[in-house]
Amino acid sequence: MPIPQTDMTPLQAARKRGEILRQLGLMEEVDEQEFDELVELAAALCGKALSAMTLLDEETQLIKARMGFQGARTMPVRESICQYTVQNNQLLVVEDTVNDERFRGPVGGSIRFYAGTPLTTLDGTAVGALCVMDTAPSVLSEQQLRALQILGRQLSNRIQLRERARSMADMMSERERAREMFVTILNNVPAEIYLKDEDGRLRFYNRKLANRFAINEAAWLGKTSRDLWDEETALRILQEDREVFLSGEPQETFLDLKEADGKHSYWRTTKAPCQDSNGNPVLACCSVDLTEQRDRERQLQETKEELEEANRKLSSLALTDALTGLWNRRAFDSRLETAVIAAQRSKKPLALMLLDVDHFKRINDRFGHPCGDEVLRNVATILNRTKRADEVACRFGGEEFTILMPGTDAQGAMVLGERIRKAMHAFEWDKEPITISMGIAVWTDGWSSDDLVDNADAALYRAKEGGRDRFICYNCDQFLGAAQGS
Ligand code: GH3
Ligand code: MG
Ligand code: MG
Repeated sequence: MPIPQTDMTPLQAARKRGEILRQLGLMEEVDEQEFDELVELAAALCGKALSAMTLLDEETQLIKARMGFQGARTMPVRESICQYTVQNNQLLVVEDTVNDERFRGPVGGSIRFYAGTPLTTLDGTAVGALCVMDTAPSVLSEQQLRALQILGRQLSNRIQLRERARSMADMMSERERAREMFVTILNNVPAEIYLKDEDGRLRFYNRKLANRFAINEAAWLGKTSRDLWDEETALRILQEDREVFLSGEPQETFLDLKEADGKHSYWRTTKAPCQDSNGNPVLACCSVDLTEQRDRERQLQETKEELEEANRKLSSLALTDALTGLWNRRAFDSRLETAVIAAQRSKKPLALMLLDVDHFKRINDRFGHPCGDEVLRNVATILNRTKRADEVACRFGGEEFTILMPGTDAQGAMVLGERIRKAMHAFEWDKEPITISMGIAVWTDGWSSDDLVDNADAALYRAKEGGRDRFICYNCDQFLGAAQGS
């Protein structure tokens, strides 16, 4: 049955034929017994002295096998009769070429009778013909025509067998190339890759793993974790493997491994359950050495902590007074600002006390500067002991201090003033008793932070003027001088 030609042009069809025939190595002038025998059979069955198997590429017709004639085995396609059998891809019978104008001129030469059946490839492309010929006009019986077609199909089958063998070989080499590529990748990734069966036996491992243990790529095949690691590690690995098999899902595990040299290495392993070519469960594992990364992270963490500590020290240095350890003037300014804003918003009271050591210059003069420093440190200690935790004591400058008291009103501030005064009296001073004067102001709506400081300073001035060793409250005259007895 004729196979319909595709919508290819004759030129495209000729190119395709040529390509297939060259790929299959059929365009060689080499006799092949399996073709010769079928050609001989065709001549015998059709009762003709001449028969041939022809193959046609773009330009040339090759007489691949022949019976009854000698001479050149190739001729231009355009001079062959078989070109019509191939082009139409169906049986062609020409009882007398003289009556067919296609065969005038060089086409066919001395041939008068021709019957040819196409030879086709797996995809139905006609690549040649099996033909019987005569130098005199002739006919073939139905049976002979049928025999010719059957033999043509037998020849086609031979050609198609070669095609199958060829594509099988192509597939094999493609598979081999893919396998080589795959192994190259496996051997060059920065990870250890291995396969284990359900009993934990190694079925494959890559070169990276082999190199780590200085073994060849087969030495450990069939070994289990028990053969390779200490009992505890092996049990842990086996347990993890079992969990992955049970879950049926890939899992990530981390392992701290004690190496033979006593050093520890740290590994992240991804284990994915899959099946080998026989359908047996296997684990595809990929282990990455994280030791260096972990060491680097630890170092980074340590450096970060050191930096944070240094930062804490620096910022506390920037805000604390080196001599007394109290907050310094800069810290006071910022805390005062915040406290005033909070007082404005919350309408809660805010008291500020300014303190100034009495006759401090005299102490310096009499006992020296270091002794004066010691007095300042002791005053700081007294302030820290007497104030509440939420009250903020600062060294304002020189022998002056402040205490910021959020939430404290005038009365509360004066209670603290009195406690400080008494603590100063009670302190066992090294050289001579030291007293302190205090000015208190309570923040009043509309005051800025400067107003609060200025007014506390005014009260302090009055305390000094009033005889020192006392506190004065700026904006609560009724309490002026209260509780000043000693
Ligand atoms: P008043 O009772 O009126 O406050 O008299 P005063 O002597 O305490 O006041 P004055 O302002 O005359 O003297 C303060 C002295 O404090 C002067 C300065 O040398 C001294 N002084 C300031 N800072 C320090 C310091 O850090 N250490 C020491 N030892 N002395 C300081
Ligand atoms: Mg002073
Ligand atoms: Mg003073």
